Amino acid sequence: MATAAPDVDEVKRRLRSRKLPFVLDVDIEAKADLIAEVLRLKAKHNVVILGHNYMEPLVFDLSDLEERGDSLQLSMYAARTSASTILFNGVVFMAETAKVLNPDKRVLIADMRAGCSLADNFRGPDVRALKERYPGVPVMIYINSYADAKAECDVCCTSANAPAIASALPGDRVLFVPDILFAQNLETELRGRKEVLFPGKGNDVRGAVCEVHERFTLEDLRMIRGSFEIPKGHASRIVYAHWECRPDVLREADVYGSTSQIRSDIARRVKEGRLEKAFVASECELTTNLMAEFPGVEFATACFVRCQHMARITLDGVLTVLRALDAGTDLKAWEVSLDRATIDRARRPIERMLEMSTAAQNRVG
Ligand code: SF4
Repeated sequence: MATAAPDVDEVKRRLRSRKLPFVLDVDIEAKADLIAEVLRLKAKHNVVILGHNYMEPLVFDLSDLEERGDSLQLSMYAARTSASTILFNGVVFMAETAKVLNPDKRVLIADMRAGCSLADNFRGPDVRALKERYPGVPVMIYINSYADAKAECDVCCTSANAPAIASALPGDRVLFVPDILFAQNLETELRGRKEVLFPGKGNDVRGAVCEVHERFTLEDLRMIRGSFEIPKGHASRIVYAHWECRPDVLREADVYGSTSQIRSDIARRVKEGRLEKAFVASECELTTNLMAEFPGVEFATACFVRCQHMARITLDGVLTVLRALDAGTDLKAWEVSLDRATIDRARRPIERMLEMSTAAQNRVG
């Protein structure tokens, strides 16, 4: 059942009490009426607003707590929501995943230009070219890809579950696409257990990298350790790195993992009272949102590392879509549409991933 939306004064009160980092009182005064209208239209039309961790704080805050997360968490939520309209505050490949899992629902995104260097540079024909070279080898595709590429693969993965899913696949080899740096890290992780084949490794097929995580260098991490006083091996000062970073950056980090794994590690250390300072080698709005969630931790930030694609999703853009929905006008400019055959073929690898993730969670639980 839809909950009542807060009025402008209530929005201001809530935002002030949250003390979001880098959100000044002047921002709250300027944006509160927009936020109140977004929340009113969200409630009126029973829209689920899924928010990826890389959204700027005021956009991230539009999503209810269970509607926020990384690719896997949002995919799982999209698969079970009963809302008839999903507004995806993330990038287009994520909204496509929601559409694949909910073909009969309307999936909207505030800016269709919100691409991704990984997804944009590796499409269905690239997968087919690789498959021809390695017939019979299971193909695992990172969720950061478009539906036409997923449709060619056996199973999807995210940075949270890639090693577990690769390990559970039959055979002693796995073909992983499209992220070359992630593939190299996976290769290290699975050494001795499973051979990881990927674009550019012994073949001339071009892969892709995340243009955001690629920017972190070993020198950056060493400089941050020095200037922010996070010596290697310190018990309560931690450098984190995302799976999509370079292998030497992962080796330098104290902890590496997916966005959700990094967040969980921070939450655990905070609960145990042993996290004083942290640096996260990932998209800078993730750190901003972690600062809001864990105000007792001193975070170093790297705001030169912003995903230009994620940044296309703005409060004004979200409001524009919801106003169009409210007015009953044509939503084509914001609606994700995929043909049924692509949906059906892309759905299998995603569902297989969700089943394997659930099975792995049940084994752990
Ligand atoms: S952060 Fe990297 S992987 Fe994520 S959307 Fe941006 S370019 Fe793509």
